[in-house]
Amino acid sequence: MKTNRNFNNLVPNYLFAEIAKRTNKFLKENPDKSVIKLGIGDVTLPLAPIVVEAMKKGADDLSKKETFKGYPDYEGYEFLRQAISDYYKSFGVDVKTDEVFVSDGAKSDCGNIGDIFSEDNTVLVTDPVYPVYVDSNIMAGRKIVYAASTQENGFAAMPDENVKADIIYLCSPNNPTGSAYTYDQLKKWVDYATKNDAVILYDAAYEAFITEDLPRSIYAVEGAKSCAIEFCSLSKTAGFTGTRCGYTIIPKELERDGENLHALWYRRQATKFNGVSWPVQCAAAAVFSEEGQKQIKENIAYYQENAKIISSALDELGIYYTGGKNSPYIWLKCPNNMGSWEFFDFLLNEANVVGTPGEGFGQNGEGYFRLTSFGDRDNTIEAVRRIKELLKK
Ligand code: PLP
Repeated sequence: MKTNRNFNNLVPNYLFAEIAKRTNKFLKENPDKSVIKLGIGDVTLPLAPIVVEAMKKGADDLSKKETFKGYPDYEGYEFLRQAISDYYKSFGVDVKTDEVFVSDGAKSDCGNIGDIFSEDNTVLVTDPVYPVYVDSNIMAGRKIVYAASTQENGFAAMPDENVKADIIYLCSPNNPTGSAYTYDQLKKWVDYATKNDAVILYDAAYEAFITEDLPRSIYAVEGAKSCAIEFCSLSKTAGFTGTRCGYTIIPKELERDGENLHALWYRRQATKFNGVSWPVQCAAAAVFSEEGQKQIKENIAYYQENAKIISSALDELGIYYTGGKNSPYIWLKCPNNMGSWEFFDFLLNEANVVGTPGEGFGQNGEGYFRLTSFGDRDNTIEAVRRIKELLKK
């Protein structure tokens, strides 16, 4: 018997554990201090009322013989897939109902999609990066190459013709850097993928935070339907981090190595996934209703205002940052050339504010720091007041 030895190649994921350790140590030594956490990416506002109503009604359906539901369809109920297709239509993107797979979230799908690809593909990720793309491919034993996101390119890594990759992960708006690709930039990635017979795995988990004229989906770019798979999630859009629902789009025309990728993913899901529960799919459909969109936009606007509060302070302080405008994340350069962890300790000790050190997301994150706008308003205002007071000195 042998275990999967690729796990030995994973870098120990100490980032959030180390943040918690340092924060708890500080609190133990300074019990009178109030620490504000703008570190992790979880939401703080509750589900929208219309979503809760739909979930309750869904649960009620399960209590009666006439409306009881058993196993759902592997790919999600048609009414939800139709609602998702209509949602794409609302920003001018054509996604067919039968190209949508409903899931329990984007993280699982981003990790599981590797099942349909051979282990000897080369995977390209941008650096810094959402760690799931890296770790899931290390587990599978794939070779990983990195495209640098740096201050010079506005933290929007672009393809290099000299690098050959088969699978490309892109995340826009980006976690952790908050940067978002333009149409022209995405077109360059689509052209690169097409030329190299590669597949783009596009994570649009933060598309609902886009405020400028930027692509909300990779399918807004010509040619993407024949080279890209898209993941999306209701976690940040509608506060579903605990409720769990997302969706993956695989165009019917997407083929590689003589195989249809939609058919491969359907086969994979039918084998390893038994769908999302009825109350959750009812709740998800409510998100896409007219009233649902109105209600979730109020929550998104609340986070966007938090982002504005944080970024205005950085503007005042003259600190370089990306994000905040089209993303809930603000990615800043640590002042006075401090290292990521050095700045973490400085902020914790002197302002009692917790953020996320950039180097936890990859080599190019060293010297940078992530703050999130998902906090409570009063806490955000107070954290910003403390940061300004500290850094103005
Ligand atoms: N993709 C990105 C880029 C994320 O930042 C996150 C969560 O933080 C996810 C996916 C996970 O989404 P879900 O909650 O739907 O699994």
